[in-house]
Parts: sequence; C-alpha cells; structure tokens
Amino acid sequence: MAHIYDRVALIGLGLIASSMFWAMKRNDLAGEITGFARSGETRDTAREIGLCDVVYDNILDAVRGADLVVLCVPVGVMGQVMEQIAPVLKPGATVTDVGSVKRDVIAQVMPHVPDGVHFIAGHPLAGTEHSGPRSGFAELFDNRWCLLVPVEGSNPDAIARLRSFWEGLGANVEEMEAEHHDLVVAVTSHAPHLIAYTMVGVADDLRRVTDGEVIKYSAGGFRDFTRIAASDPTMWRDVFLTNKDATLEILGRFTEELFALQRAIRQGDGAHLHDYFTRTRAIRRGIIEAGQDTDAPDFGRSGGRKQ
Ligand code: NAP
Repeated sequence: MAHIYDRVALIGLGLIASSMFWAMKRNDLAGEITGFARSGETRDTAREIGLCDVVYDNILDAVRGADLVVLCVPVGVMGQVMEQIAPVLKPGATVTDVGSVKRDVIAQVMPHVPDGVHFIAGHPLAGTEHSGPRSGFAELFDNRWCLLVPVEGSNPDAIARLRSFWEGLGANVEEMEAEHHDLVVAVTSHAPHLIAYTMVGVADDLRRVTDGEVIKYSAGGFRDFTRIAASDPTMWRDVFLTNKDATLEILGRFTEELFALQRAIRQGDGAHLHDYFTRTRAIRRGIIEAGQDTDAPDFGRSGGRKQ
C-alpha cells in the first residue's frame, strides 16, 4: 500500500499508539513515524522495542513537520496536549485523537486548533485490558470499527484521507455525531466496565467470607469480569469523568432493569426471567454473526489472542 501520510506523529505511546505503529508498518502507510510519551521510562522502552522510527524527548520535536498527529493520551489531557503542540503544527496538517469519549474531547481540543490545521476526532472500538508500549500488536484494529467524528468545518479531503488511513490499519470506518457516539459507547463499553468494576469489588468484599474460593472457582463467569476490571485506572477514571451524562443515563436504566429482575426472582416469576434471557441470548448471536466475537467455547480462550 502507498504511504497515506509522509510523516505521522504519535503522542502517547501506549496500547493504542503502539498497535497503530505496528499496523502502519505492516501496510507501509507512512513514510516516517515519530513518537513522544510523557515519561522517560516509556520513551526508553519504545526505543528498546523499535516502537517509532524516532522517539523524541520533546513533544514539539515529535510533532514538527508531521502531516498527521494522533493524540493517544488519556481523554482528560487531550486539550492540554493540543495546546502544547499547536504552535508548531504544520499548515494543512491533520490532528486526530483516539479517545474513548468524543463530546468532551472536542470541547477541550477545538479552542487550541490553529487556522489551517484540520482536527477530526476519532475512536477505534478496539482494545484490551493491557496498557503501555509493550502491549500493542498490528492486528488490534482488524475488522473492528473506527468511528470518525468530524467537527464543524472539517475538510472533506482530510476526512477522506483519515478514513483511508484507518482502513489501511485494518478497521471498518463510519462517521458519527459526537453526542450519539458517547451514548452508544456508554452502552457498549463504559457502563459494562463500571458494572465489572463493581462486581469485582463486591467479590473482594466477600473474600474473607469465601476464603479464597472466589479466585479458585472464578471460571463461573466472574473471571470475565476480572479481565475487564483489570483495565487501566487512569484511562477509565477519565472516561467516567468526561462521559458523565451518557453513563449516568445508561446506569439509571440498568438499575431499573436490575430491580425488575430482582423482583422476578423474589416472586418466582420464571417466565419473566426466561423471556429476558432469551432476548439477551439473541443479542450475543447477533454479535457473532456481525464478526465481532468468536462463538468458540470459553470465548476461544484455549487458542489465539483474546481481546
Ligand atoms: P495507555 O496504554 O495507558 O497509554 C497512554 C499513553 O499516554 C502513555 O504513553 C502515557 O505516557 C501517555 N500520557 C499520559 N498522560 C500524558 C500527558 N499528560 N502527556 C503526554 N502523554 C501522556 O493508554 P491506551 O490504552 O493506549 O489509551 C490511549 C487513549 O486511547 C485513551 O484516550 C483511551 O481512552 C483510548 N482508547 C483506549 C482503548 C483501550 O481499550 N485501551 C480503546 C480505544 C480507545 P507514560 O507511559 O509516559 O505515562
């Protein structure tokens, strides 16, 4: 594949940036890829494993001359980073981000976007519970969705180029409006994470009563919650602080449904429970048919990489 951008700068060198780097190299999407991370430790690790063609100790050096800058930092600091890099951005450059929340990130970033620079928000719907520069892999985005959220006045050519770039990384691309994005991911990702954190927290409270059995017998469903609940605390703190409205809306509905199921159990209403579980089973089938998960027993744990 021909280069889509001559020079790409990755700011933040964790799971998403490192996966983007390996996927760019796999399909030769960029001429040169530069990088910057906040800590010297992460920058040293990146150099050691060959993550980025050049890793700079100064964020401005990493961004200077870049045709595409990708902000791969936690959502709470997107605006700060944009403010820092704004003075050296090349005219005509595109800046995008990979943050899990879109309305708040756009509000943080837009005031700092210089004239002649295109900002197009983005969010790849792909991840794992691992973080840091060593956690990335080239296949992360294959057949996953990447949602692009153009802002007012986004240049159509810049959007089309960014779309080709994400397709080159292996993703399917769709455009979405920011508020709608935040509601969709509150249902598909943010609320489920909070529920997993809660379930694991409850199990931890019970640990003394069950005397280690929670860990020993964890395969009964609990194990899947623990995988999600192992996700990066900084990232998830920022997600809930910045996607507050949509998450609270979904958690409100969740609580109502939970009470209804609780009542059905208390009243012995088997029909209600059976109907409910039949409906949810169909949703799982739909996800498999859409190619977004495997129907192998045990989520295909015994073979391949699990996301
Ligand atoms: P990660 O592995 O924890 O990496 C975050 C990177 O950001 C690290 O290199 C960190 O540098 C750097 N960083 C943190 N604060 C910074 C600051 N103030 N200035 C400059 N760099 C800073 O995170 P990730 O999983 O790749 O997530 C990155 C973004 O992608 C987040 O916005 C997240 O919402 C989004 N996202 C994540 C997933 C997922 O499943 N993980 C999926 C889709 C989207 P140090 O290492 O030096 O601290």
